[in-house]
This record gives sequence, structure tokens and C-alpha cells, in this order.
Amino acid sequence: MLCMCLVSMQVSAQFQWPDGIRAAVSLAYDDALDSHLDTALPELNRYGFHASFYLTLNSPTIKTRLNEWRLAARQGHELGNHSINHPCRASLPERSWVEPHNNLDTLSVAAIVQEIHNANVFLLAIDGETQRTFTPPCGDSRAQDGNYLTQLTPLFVAIRRQGKPLSDMQQLQLHDTPTWFAINPSLQELKDYVKAAETHGSLASITFHGVGGDYLAVDADVHKQFLAWLDNHRDRYWVESFITLSRYIHAQQSVH
Ligand SMILES: [Zn+2]
Repeated sequence: MLCMCLVSMQVSAQFQWPDGIRAAVSLAYDDALDSHLDTALPELNRYGFHASFYLTLNSPTIKTRLNEWRLAARQGHELGNHSINHPCRASLPERSWVEPHNNLDTLSVAAIVQEIHNANVFLLAIDGETQRTFTPPCGDSRAQDGNYLTQLTPLFVAIRRQGKPLSDMQQLQLHDTPTWFAINPSLQELKDYVKAAETHGSLASITFHGVGGDYLAVDADVHKQFLAWLDNHRDRYWVESFITLSRYIHAQQSVH
């Protein structure tokens, strides 16, 4: 056991963030909501923080506020893939809202993979980017005839999934990156999540939905204060889009 611990410590020591950085922070916003454009983006831009916005492409904001999403991309934010129709498994608890034609339980792996591929083409038309990351709608992985996420690896630099953070960055699988779906979190909970990542020199991946509105929201003041706290500690926390962090993590893992 002693020997294995030493090996583990040695591997962890090899992964390095840029100078002085003790943890990376990936902020993400799912579902292309109005409150992202109205509240989250102005606050992020105020501090020069880049985030990842996982666009559901049938969201009304894609049609009504397309120029604002294009501007967000030009400002350095990532427009991530969150599918076109947001299919989820209707058979799971509290899923009565899932429409029958978007029920992942009845979609084949081939059908959902085609939808996700088409979403990438749609996003290419919005921001001109050929590489991006993915967050599965509802965090689901199982379609009618199997796990569809395993078929998506060639399409994405990385995929984020709900799960407990890893302490060893060398062990992180970018196509199964754990994230926290933060629903109405307190400021202290958000800080503690980042501090826990700092303890291990790892990644704090946080996913929001509404910001001061819409649904599953974080309070707007809590969000604002959290960004201000990250700004006060920018010498030790690297706040960046998930795709930029993923490229850095991949490069570090490849070196060692
Ligand atoms: Zn979603």
C-alpha cells in the first residue's frame, strides 16, 4: 500500500497548472436561457472570465437572440453542444415534462448520435468553430438500444457528466469529466467546491441553469458575489471555458 501511495503522489505532482494556479474553474450554463444573456454574460464579461454555454438549439433564444450568442463566442466564450431537442429519459422520476417525441427511452443510439452531430454543424454555422465540448441533456446516457455517450468521443474534445470531482488530474478522463449541477447553491457552497479542488490541485467544474430567473436557478446576487470572489483570487484560480481547460489538461496528460 505504501508503495502505491508514493506512486500516486508522484503522478499527481507531475500535472501542473500554469504558474501559481492551484485549481481551474469551469463555469457552464445549460439550455440557452434568457437569463444567461441578460445576467450571467454581463457579469462574466465584467471580469473577463470565459465560460461555456451549452446551447439547446431549439431554445427560443437561438432564434430571437442569435446575434447575442454570436457576440458571446467572439468575446471568447464557448458555445457548447447540448443537442437540438434536449431528449431525456421519460421513464425516470420527475420526468413527466419530457415530450413523447423527445423521449430518449424510445430513440435509437443512431438517432441521437445523428442529432448531436447535426447540432455540431448548426453550431459551426453560428460561431465558425469546428471543435467543442458536450453536456448530455439531463445527464442521461442510455438511449433505447444502449449507451450513446460512448459513441460521441470522436465528436468532442471533452464531455461533462454529473459526478464527484476527481483528486488526481492525471486520472481524469476528459470524455467523462465530473461536474456539479449547482441548483440554488449558497455562496459558501460554491466557494467550498472550489476550495476542495484547490486542495487537490484539480478542476472545479460547475454547471448552472437559470441565473436569477428561468429555472433550477442560482440566485443572481450569489452568482455575482461568486464571480467577485473568483476575481479576488485570480492569482490562484484559473477561470476559463471548458474547451480551453480541456486542451490544457489533454496536453499535460500527454506530456507525462
Ligand atoms: Zn439541459
